[in-house]
Amino acid sequence: MHTLIDTHAHLSGLEGRGIDTRQTLADLFSKDNINIIDISLEPGDLSTRIHEFSCYNRVHFASGLWPWSLSITNREKMVMELEKDIIALRKHICALGEFGLDHNRNHENLEGERELMEMQMDMAQKLELPVIIHSRDAAKETAEVLARYPQVRGVVHCFSYGPTELQSFLRLGYFISFAGNITYKNARNIQEACKAVPPDKLFLETDCPYLAPVPHRGKPAHPGMVEEVYKKAAEIRETDLPTLAEQIEENVKTLFGF
Ligand SMILES: [Zn+2]
Repeated sequence: MHTLIDTHAHLSGLEGRGIDTRQTLADLFSKDNINIIDISLEPGDLSTRIHEFSCYNRVHFASGLWPWSLSITNREKMVMELEKDIIALRKHICALGEFGLDHNRNHENLEGERELMEMQMDMAQKLELPVIIHSRDAAKETAEVLARYPQVRGVVHCFSYGPTELQSFLRLGYFISFAGNITYKNARNIQEACKAVPPDKLFLETDCPYLAPVPHRGKPAHPGMVEEVYKKAAEIRETDLPTLAEQIEENVKTLFGF
């Protein structure tokens, strides 16, 4: 049986949305061959997440500082805390992230936001960790920062741009990950980008509890729904699910090493 990999899930966010996380994971792991990368957005929760989820041994961990106004304002202190956590728990960590630029939400202190991203790129370079990048309405600015770190490898997650922006990230050697929104009717631009990604640069994810794929749209998402994302990506790319799954498994091994 092929393995499906949800390369971007926020497991800690499921409980607050009415999902019984333990039950959902137990069900999932008993019948499906699925792997998950659990992502956090703030420092300090890494040991709790590892304590809670590492028993499933199909859950892998990444930590980063999302560009909230709190983390932008307190970037020096919070990046130091994050680094301390990551060094202490290094053997559980497969990537640094998610972090990046969000000009859909942030309209002030963009310099601080960029610095927060650069500080984490510096850390990734120093600790030799791949990065998971969040980028919204800031394709050009994001690519400019990434271009200054040619040794760092990573993925642009929940890709929400079109085929034109796609090229700038591919040129930098980045992997591209698509979430549940590729199943949405109005997502033509994202679907075209999904079609254009070379097979060896593609990842899929849920970004749960957000962006539940059709036919679950509107409900909180969980990692089991990644199958719908695989099905849609296979349809868009005119391939079959086992071929796609095998390729993504290989891509995950290349970038994250598991
Ligand atoms: Zn996320």
